[in-house]
Formats: sequence, C-alpha cells, structure tokens
Amino acid sequence: MSFKNLGLSDSLLKAISEKGYETPTPIQQKAIPRILEGKDVLASAQTGTGKTAGFTLPMLQKLANAKQMHKRPVRALVLTPTRELAAQVYDDVKTYSKYVDIRSTVIFGGVNANPQIRTMKQGVDILVATPGRLLDLHNQGIFSLKSVEFLVLDEADRMLDMGFARDINKILALLPKRRQNLLFSATFSKEIKKLANSFLYQPVLVEATPENTTAEKVDQLIFKTDKAKKTDLVIKLISEGNWQQVLIFTRTKHGANRLAQKLDKAKITSAAIHGNKSQGARTKALANFKSGNVRVLVATDIAARGLDIPLLPHVINYELPNIPEDYVHRIGRTGRAGASGEAISIVSVDEFEYVRAIEKLLGERLDQKTIPGFEVTENLQEVLDKKAENKAANQRGRQQSRNNKPSRGSSKNKGGNRKNTRRNHQ
Ligand code: AMP
Repeated sequence: MSFKNLGLSDSLLKAISEKGYETPTPIQQKAIPRILEGKDVLASAQTGTGKTAGFTLPMLQKLANAKQMHKRPVRALVLTPTRELAAQVYDDVKTYSKYVDIRSTVIFGGVNANPQIRTMKQGVDILVATPGRLLDLHNQGIFSLKSVEFLVLDEADRMLDMGFARDINKILALLPKRRQNLLFSATFSKEIKKLANSFLYQPVLVEATPENTTAEKVDQLIFKTDKAKKTDLVIKLISEGNWQQVLIFTRTKHGANRLAQKLDKAKITSAAIHGNKSQGARTKALANFKSGNVRVLVATDIAARGLDIPLLPHVINYELPNIPEDYVHRIGRTGRAGASGEAISIVSVDEFEYVRAIEKLLGERLDQKTIPGFEVTENLQEVLDKKAENKAANQRGRQQSRNNKPSRGSSKNKGGNRKNTRRNHQ
C-alpha cells in the first residue's frame, strides 16, 4: 500500500515524500480514504501511530479542493488538550501543506496572545488550538467559527480527563451544524462514547490498535522493590544498560523535580517537565532531550501528554498511575511507528493494586522481575502508615506557612474538584 493509492493529491504526495515517509501506517491506511469520502470518523489511536498525518492529510486535501473564500474564515478546527500537542500538530500541518494554498496557525495559552490575535485577524483556513485560549479569543470577537466545515478532537480522552468537557461543549455550540467531525482517542471510556454520540454523525470506526490494548512491540516489565530503593534501581538500570534516552514518569511535580535532581547528582543528565514549568522551560527541556543533551526526561502525565518523541527506546514508570488508562498513554511513548521499545514499571507494595487494575484493563498479565539487592522488604501496612504520617506532616507544614503569610482575603483553590486537584499536582 502506498500513499498514492489512498487518493492523495500530487502536492501532498510531494510533501510526504520530502518528509521521508514511504508507506502509510495502519491508521493512515484506514482513516484517510474514509475522511476523503466525507465520513465522520471515530478513531482509536494513540500517539506514535501516525494519527496526526492520518487526519491532517485528508483535511488538507478537502480544504484545498474546495473553493477558497476571499476572507479566509476558519474552515478547519483542530482541538488538542495541551499546548505541546497543539504545537506539534501545527508543525505537521505546516509540513504537509507546503505545496497547497492553505493558511494555518496555532493558538494556546501560557504565551502572549497578541501575535495570535494578529494572525487570526489576517485569516486562516486551519486553526489548531487548545480549548481555553480558543474560547478566550473567540469571546473577544477576534474571529468567528461559523464557517468551520471540519472539526478534529485530538486525544479526546485526555481532554475530558483534564476537565475540558464544558469547554468542548461551548465550542461545539459555536460551530455550524453541518460539518465533518473526527474524534481521536487512545482509550474509550463511557464518557468518551457519550461525547462521540453527542456530535459524531454515523461515524466510521477506525482502530490502530485494538481497544484498550498496548502496542505489540512494547516489552512490558515490572520490577517490585521498596519505595526507598526506587531511585537507586532507576540509576542502576540506566547506568548498567547505558540507556541514552529515557522518559520517566512520576505522579507529582515535586516527585519529578526530586528525581531529576537525584539523577543529575548521579551524573545522569536530566530535566523535569510538569505543570509548574513555564511553556518556554518545557519546550527547552524537550528540545534538549530530543537532541540528546539530556539523557532523561522526568515528566508527569499531563506534561508529557502528546509529546512527539520518535523512536523512544525506554520508558520507566517511577510510580504507577492510579488511573489504568494513563498507563496505556505512558507506554505509548515507546515502540513508536514500528520501532521496538521497553516499558519498565518500578512498583512498591502500595502500588500492587494498580498493577492488578492495569492488567485487568489490558487483559494480560505483566512479567515481573526482582533484581538481587532490590527485593521487597516493606509490608503494606508500614508503607501506608508512613504515607499517612508524611501527608499529615505536609498538611501541618502548609497550614503553618499559611498562618505565617499575611491574609489576602481570597483563596484561588476554593472549591477545587478532584480533576483540578490532580491537575494542580501535575
Ligand atoms: P503521531 O502518532 O501522529 O504522533 O506520529 C508519530 C510519529 O510517526 C511522528 O514522528 C511522525 O512523524 C511519524 N510518522 C507518521 N506517519 C508516518 C509514516 N507513514 N511513516 C513513517 N513515520 C511516520
């Protein structure tokens, strides 16, 4: 199967061949012809499957074929959960639209809005955006979404997980009723199915990997050990394996910072990315990691979402996520576009229940291994007691520092729900 067989135009084929792709990936083979037919598509695909080209290429072809409107109103809207993913999708749109007369841009929060406003005022055909900034600029009357013919929700599961359900509904209400819709998601919870039902019209189902299973080429392994020995075990694996590019997941921002510092001390260059880092700092850390200047990128789930790190050989879960679907996302960073990879989870006794939940989701048992010197010696009760003690001490510390601060009369976090709490930690 070649790209030519999919019905793509010469201009797009030229851009694809310059990018160096020879054969379409399975999701591209399945999705591109259906999107070109004008169907709504519900696609199960995670990062690394080539999904971005899977929707960008047919979208460009359809927009380029249609009559160009003088004022260039937004005709295609791609929504993504994070700034990083928005930037990557936009990069792909630019690459593939090199030889077609299509204007595009990206807007996301965390950076100055003025350049975005200027570009939007000049008119673009394709807009890639995160929900918050999109609504913000739309509310200011900077542009209209009344001419949108094509809507893509990329990594829709993550958008819901990050609490964007309301924003998505607000955005849907701004679009014309007649349009083509595509929804991409790595996992399919009840909420995703509900969302899909709410706006997709007779969608064609396209699957890159079977529902809720991980890419076949990823070797998954569990190392059971004590909490206190996790860092040493990570250092041992990276040093003895001479691993040069490793992505490590932690559950919290503080955990990410602490681990990055310890790795640096052990002469393993590393950088941390999480919700507290500025956009500039995250972009820089990712660039350093991609170029090989740092060996390890330590990330929280939300910060790592959608990062395009091709051919990543090693992913380590320093802590397991308590949401099993996040495990699928994390290990989707390895074994990308046909390359093999290894996903290792370092698991302490208090996380054994997460292993069971993940195995249930995957429908398979994960291989377990113990390294001499790193056997489990803690028992669950001890660990839980210690956790409770630490939590209480942290709370006391926070209370104390609140008492020491002059009162400002308002608290930003009042009324935070579970989802927000999760976001604040990551
Ligand atoms: P995505 O799943 O869209 O994040 O793409 C994952 C990676 O695969 C990116 O680095 C793409 O540039 C790359 N890619 C996409 N399509 C192809 C293809 N047909 N052949 C080789 N690599 C591809």
